Amino acid sequence: MSHQTQVVVIGGGQAGLAAGYHLRRLGLDFVLLDAQTTSGGAWQHAWDSLHLFSPAAYSSLPGHLMPPQPGETYPDAQHVVEYLADYEKRYQLPVERPVRVLGAHRDGGLLRVETDSGPWHARAVISATGTWWRPFLPTVPGQATFRGRQLHTVEYRSPADFAGQRVIVVGGGNSGAQIAADLAHDTDLTWVTQRPPRFLADDIDGRALFDVATARRRALDEGRTDTGGVASLGDIVAVPPVREARDRGLLTASPMFSRLHTGGVEWADGTRAEADAIIWCTGFRPALSHLSPLQLRGRRGHIVTEGTQVVDEPRLHLLGYGDWTGPASATLIGIGRPARDAAREIAQFLTAYG
Ligand code: FAD
Repeated sequence: MSHQTQVVVIGGGQAGLAAGYHLRRLGLDFVLLDAQTTSGGAWQHAWDSLHLFSPAAYSSLPGHLMPPQPGETYPDAQHVVEYLADYEKRYQLPVERPVRVLGAHRDGGLLRVETDSGPWHARAVISATGTWWRPFLPTVPGQATFRGRQLHTVEYRSPADFAGQRVIVVGGGNSGAQIAADLAHDTDLTWVTQRPPRFLADDIDGRALFDVATARRRALDEGRTDTGGVASLGDIVAVPPVREARDRGLLTASPMFSRLHTGGVEWADGTRAEADAIIWCTGFRPALSHLSPLQLRGRRGHIVTEGTQVVDEPRLHLLGYGDWTGPASATLIGIGRPARDAAREIAQFLTAYG
């Protein structure tokens, strides 16, 4: 038996919840389908020491400020999970769990969303499935020959799992720097980055980054010169543990190696480093395989959108994957505006087409 509603939101993380908040305000009928068994999206899978790079008030979804976490300027991931669970209850958002969406299809005048517990038909769909579920690993020669452990950011939990081991952390972004800092004290660490690490100034946290991203968007909207946005400032937010490890000289990076061998890695000049484990902090890609039946056009690896609306399928909106679906839309504070715009456009679309 098929369920029917006006709007299906795929994903019940922060992006899905922000969409739900605005759909509710506009009086639309909707459901959120989420593959997790409990609230919190990707935050419930973060490594133990992960903290936000902004204070609570600057990490809030629309309508309800995140409360501060006692004793912490930058809340931890568990605090975010609790906030999202509370948010869901506060606005009585209809989340169905665990429901995995297998595919979205055109079905006459409707979209049909196939799930592992039966189909839903809807007039519009918002996809808000995040990136955590699609870790990216580069291909490096010799990868299969390495006899130690290889894992991605998504599998890393705590330094206790690697105490006393020789660990190579690969990646010069925030995940790489934070995991390297986490491991710097208890392991024999080699941190490897593709280009020399670019730390942001110590006084720049998520608050300042959001202001810079907003100013850039305003400049672009008003036809002024592109300020370059946050990318021009650096890659790594110097959160307290990263700053501390860097200042103690524990975060010096080596350039990228050229291959793996059975016992570790090797650089182009033949230098080798032995390793028990390699942790690939090499990023994520949008988790969008459920949209493949719609055969949407891509540009530079992204589905083509205008704002959040998919150009090839105007009944479909994308929320939260990256800047191409709205400035700072992959962050807690940044998702509010694109979620509001998507909900408004869907409401207008439903009114216009009866
Ligand atoms: P998710 O949290 O991934 O939620 C998506 C949901 O959709 C999940 O519950 C998932 O199970 C579900 N789903 C996926 N596929 C399907 C499917 N086929 N069917 C049904 N459900 C599905 N942002 C900040 O604002 N501040 C920070 O300090 C910060 N730190 C970060 C640190 C790290 C290491 C990372 C990776 C990101 C960080 N972010 C931060 C960015 C961002 O806030 C998070 O990535 C956030 O989890 C994105 O939320 P989301 O709702 O888009 O995706």
